[in-house]
Amino acid sequence: MRIKIKTGIGTMSYVRLLISGFIMSLSMQTSLASSEKIKTVDLIVQGRYVVTMDPENLVIEYGAVAVNDGVIVAVGSAPDIAADFTAKKEIDGKDRILLPGLVNGHTHAAMVLFRGMADDLPLMEWLQNYIFPMEARFVDPEFIEVGMKLACLEMIRGGTTSFVDMYFYADRGAAVIESCGLRAILGSSSIDFPSPGFKGWDDSFAAAVKFVKNYKSRSGRVTPAFAPHSPYTVSAEHMAQLSKAATELNAPITTHLSEDRAELALILDRYNTTPIKHVASLGLLGNKLIAAHVVHPTDEEIKLLAKYKVGVIHNPTSNLKTAAGISPVPEMLKQGVRVGLGTDGAVSNNDLDMWEEIRLAALLHKGVNYDATLMPAEVVMHMATKGGAEAVGLDHLVGDIVVGKRADLIQLDLSGPHMTPLYDVISHLVYAARSGDVVTTIVDGHILMEDGKVLTLDAGDIRQKANDIAARITRALSRE
Ligand SMILES: [Zn+2]
Repeated sequence: MRIKIKTGIGTMSYVRLLISGFIMSLSMQTSLASSEKIKTVDLIVQGRYVVTMDPENLVIEYGAVAVNDGVIVAVGSAPDIAADFTAKKEIDGKDRILLPGLVNGHTHAAMVLFRGMADDLPLMEWLQNYIFPMEARFVDPEFIEVGMKLACLEMIRGGTTSFVDMYFYADRGAAVIESCGLRAILGSSSIDFPSPGFKGWDDSFAAAVKFVKNYKSRSGRVTPAFAPHSPYTVSAEHMAQLSKAATELNAPITTHLSEDRAELALILDRYNTTPIKHVASLGLLGNKLIAAHVVHPTDEEIKLLAKYKVGVIHNPTSNLKTAAGISPVPEMLKQGVRVGLGTDGAVSNNDLDMWEEIRLAALLHKGVNYDATLMPAEVVMHMATKGGAEAVGLDHLVGDIVVGKRADLIQLDLSGPHMTPLYDVISHLVYAARSGDVVTTIVDGHILMEDGKVLTLDAGDIRQKANDIAARITRALSRE
């Protein structure tokens, strides 16, 4: 049963308390007419602190969220929610923070099976001498299935509920995402040279079109996207072809963009321009574009990114590890660019832990700019949740805890010594929390992890299969 939600009839009252320089709020908010109150809902989740990330940025102390049919139907104080609703299932939150699930705006999930295989190398050498050849040899449908399961297990445990992925055998990846319960924007990678499952551009592009058409009609948790690898591995002609198809099919595009100085040199040499202006000339910005990295935009390009509402995904760990540089995120935010956060694949990270990206994004720009006021905690939490959802185009569904949104929620345990005491809950989320603190992960109202136990994937079986594939790769490489 889908709940009818009336808007504009809600009540909201809050008292702001100033605690150690941070405004915390007590609030009560419901949006259901009294005559239509739902007495029984699927789920009520509580939080000692409910960090809603809604436009008012309210934090509700001793709060709760009521969920029915995958939708948030009420948000408010725990006593008020308890007075209005009974639930088939309740999750306690006495010593927990409840917040929206994290949005990982850029990854290649199945690459977790290459974790730690090629470290400490420059980006182009890493790609051309290690990653592309390894993918050609070892990535097959089984690799994608096991790798995607391992990645989803890691993301569910770390509180990521939505992610943007570009890789190969997208159908196999999508099947895993659907069965484990996560939400994703998924692209079948298109590239000019032979890649896993493809001889070259023509068949990789044809597969991408087929994948988008197939998954568009399903309207589930997997949103299909086009995923050209980058402007230096996809020709201008092919990029324009893909852009046209994305417009016709109204599908998002995700790509690597302006990542590395070697890319700038290649684009300058081939097209006598800069990467973002290059893809703009091919029509990419007119589509819903999710651009990973954007480390080297010019001032003119930053204005273009803002104007066309491009979703920029900041991947601080990956950019540091491959020595790509440091993205001018504070300047992009100042100019109104939509910026989210991502881990990138596990070979350039080497994990899918969004809490590390959150903390690094908060620290990095302060240090390199000699300005401790840059990237304050609330701005970075916004990038990891609501701002990330806006950047990738999922904000109509998720990103904050408000009535009418899908119930993608996580709980963090507050009992650890590193979380004690607590003066400012947003400060803890950014500067103290770890992925191991996540104890509950919920997507679309379905509980994927409860009390630290993942319910939708078999961790032991996945670890065994991942180690079997790694042993096979190690044996093959040792025979050389
Ligand atoms: Zn990437």
